[in-house]
Amino acid sequence: MKFGIVGYKGRMGNEVKLLFEEKGHEFVWGYDKDGEYFSQTPELIIDFSLPEVLEKTIEFVKNFKVPLIIGTTGLSEEQLQSLKLLSQEIPIVQSYNFSIGIQLFLKVVDLLKEYIDGWDIEIVEAHHRFKKDKPSGTAKMIKECLEKEVPISSLRLGNVPGDHILYLANLGEVLTISHRALSRRAFADGVYKSANFILNKENGFYIFEDVMFEN
Ligand code: NAD
Repeated sequence: MKFGIVGYKGRMGNEVKLLFEEKGHEFVWGYDKDGEYFSQTPELIIDFSLPEVLEKTIEFVKNFKVPLIIGTTGLSEEQLQSLKLLSQEIPIVQSYNFSIGIQLFLKVVDLLKEYIDGWDIEIVEAHHRFKKDKPSGTAKMIKECLEKEVPISSLRLGNVPGDHILYLANLGEVLTISHRALSRRAFADGVYKSANFILNKENGFYIFEDVMFEN
């Protein structure tokens, strides 16, 4: 496939580009701070940039009329709504975490959440020092899954790609669920899965859970 990336010079953009190229696909279009790279029209656009770039991404996607996979975190409710509106015209996969492990983490949380009334619950996340948003989009996903107001502690440390720990405790025991992304490849793999998923899909708003558990 011929793919394009918004934020192609960034950490995630670069990892996604490398992986797709290793799989034999062609990087034909990119957009970053210093403008556009164009060699051919892409069949798919992937966005790993910043929330303030979203308007521009929507403009490109509408012009090219191609599916969008977006992993940028820190989007406002209004921005998520504008993506949902756009998904009436094109298929979109949106996720704040494209790793398989976090999808399984959320499944576990979904299973246990009805048994933890009265427990102390806290989420701790750690990411590299360059991460702009706080708390992480993934921590927000875990909180949303719990359907409870729970504290989130955010650490910004060195070059950590992404750690999430959920602590659950009653007076007699502590249960922890934790996930560590060992490299950005874990997210890029999920983006690649999403690309194969979305190229045959009708218009609509999909999340990574739909990609993972399609059948
Ligand atoms: P990064 O800072 O390395 O990359 C961001 C890129 O966007 C850079 O190349 C930067 O130049 C570009 N950019 C910034 N402002 C721009 C502008 N105005 N116009 C065009 N391009 C602009 O960041 P990163 O670590 O690659 O993360 C990018 C995003 O992806 C963040 O929101 C991060 O939280 C998110 N992320 C999501 C997942 C996931 O699985 N969903 C995983 C990792 C990171």
